[in-house]
Amino acid sequence: MGPAIGIVGGGQLAWMLAEAAQRRQIALQVQTPSPEDPAVGLAAGVVEASVRDVAGTAELATRCSAISFENEWIDLEGLAPLAAQGVQFVPSLKALQPLVCKRNQRELLQRLNLPSPRWFPLTAACPTPSKTTPPSAGQPALPDGFQFPLMAKAATGGYDGKGTAVLRGPEDLVALIAQVDPANWIVEEFVEFEQELALVAARDRFGEVVCLPLVQTHQHEQVCDWVLAPVEASHALQQAARNIAASLLTSLDYVGVLSLEFFYGRRGLMINELAPRTHNSGHYSIEASSCSQFDLQLLCVSGQAAVEPSLVVPGALMVNLLGFEQRSADDPEADYGDKRQALAALADAHLHWYGKRGSSHGRKLGHLTVLLRSTDAQERRHEAMERLQEVRSIWPLPGGTAAA
Ligand code: ADP
Repeated sequence: MGPAIGIVGGGQLAWMLAEAAQRRQIALQVQTPSPEDPAVGLAAGVVEASVRDVAGTAELATRCSAISFENEWIDLEGLAPLAAQGVQFVPSLKALQPLVCKRNQRELLQRLNLPSPRWFPLTAACPTPSKTTPPSAGQPALPDGFQFPLMAKAATGGYDGKGTAVLRGPEDLVALIAQVDPANWIVEEFVEFEQELALVAARDRFGEVVCLPLVQTHQHEQVCDWVLAPVEASHALQQAARNIAASLLTSLDYVGVLSLEFFYGRRGLMINELAPRTHNSGHYSIEASSCSQFDLQLLCVSGQAAVEPSLVVPGALMVNLLGFEQRSADDPEADYGDKRQALAALADAHLHWYGKRGSSHGRKLGHLTVLLRSTDAQERRHEAMERLQEVRSIWPLPGGTAAA
C-alpha cells in the first residue's frame, strides 16, 4: 500500500472514493462522526469526529500524507494553523476560500468575468435604519435593475435546495427578511434556463486540467433526480464549458476535482454553482468512463498526473434513488431489499446502495447507473427516457414534501 490519504467526511462520496482507493491500493482514512456512516466499512481507518472538528483533522493528518474534503462545510480558519504546520490539504485552503460559500463564489465569478446570474446581497434590499426611524421601519426595496421573480439563497449551509427560496413578489421578500439573517443570504435573478448541465473537471499539481464529458442534470424539487451522459452538445459548447473550467481552476491554482453546475438557454452557459469536490453528476463515470471522478480525485490528491478520461460506452443514465417515504433507522423495511434486487437485475444496470439508516423524502439512499447502447445522440436520449421509466416502475419519485 502507498501513503495514506485522508478525507474529511464519511458519506456516499467518501464511500465511492474508498472503493476507488481499494482498487488502486491506496489506504484511505476518513474523519466522520458516526461508525455507521457509509464510508466507514471500506476505509482503512477512521477518526471518529465531526467534520468541523479541527482536533480530529489534526489526528487524521498524523496518519496521512495529504488530506482532502468530501464537502464544502470546511472550517478554513480553524484548519489554517494545521496548514501552517505543513499539513498538505488538497485542494489548498487558499484555493477553497472563494468556493466554500455561495456569496464568495458569486464574487469570484464576477472577478474572473465568468458568466453567472446577476446577484445582490440580501442586506442591499433591507431598509436602511436612520437616526430618526427605528430599524424596523421602512419597506424593503430591490436594487436598481432587478425585478421579481428572484431566487434567494443562503450563502452557507444550503444543499439540495435547502436554503433556497423563490421570491415571487414584495411579500416574499419581506417574509424572508423577517425569517433569516440577511447577512447570510444573497438574491439572484431568476434564470429561465432550458437545461441544467454539469461538468466535472480535475487539475493535477502539474497544472494539467482534464474533464469528464458535459452532462445534463435533471432536478426534482431542487434535488438531482437523473443525469444523462454525455449531453448532445455542439463541440463549441463542450469547449466553452471546458475553457470556463480550465480558467477557473488555473486562476485558483486549484488541485483536485471540481464540479461546475450550469444553466443553459438562450443566454448561453451560466455558472449556477461550483462544488470543490466530486459530484453527483459524475457518478456515472464509475462504470462509463476509463477513469472515474473518484480515480481523478485520488490521482490529484496523491500528487500524480491526472489522466484524460474517455467514455467506454456510448453513454449512461444515472438515476438517484431518493427516499420517497419516512422510515426510521430501526425499521427492517428501510433497506428496500426487494426493490434493490429488482433494480440490480435490470439490463446493463449498476446499483450503488449507500447503506444509510432510515429514509425520508428526497434523501439520497443510492443510485443506479444504466449503460446506454445507442451511438446516435437523439436515439440515446430516447433510450435513456425509456430506461428511466423502467427504473421508475420499481423506484418511485418522492412526491409532496421537501427533501430531507
Ligand atoms: P443547492 O446548493 O441547494 O443545490 P442550487 O443553487 O444548486 O442549490 O439550486 C438548486 C436548484 O434550484 C438548481 O438546480 C436550479 O434548478 C434551481 N435554481 C437555483 N438558482 C436558480 C436561479 N438563479 N434561477 C432559476 N433557478 C435556479
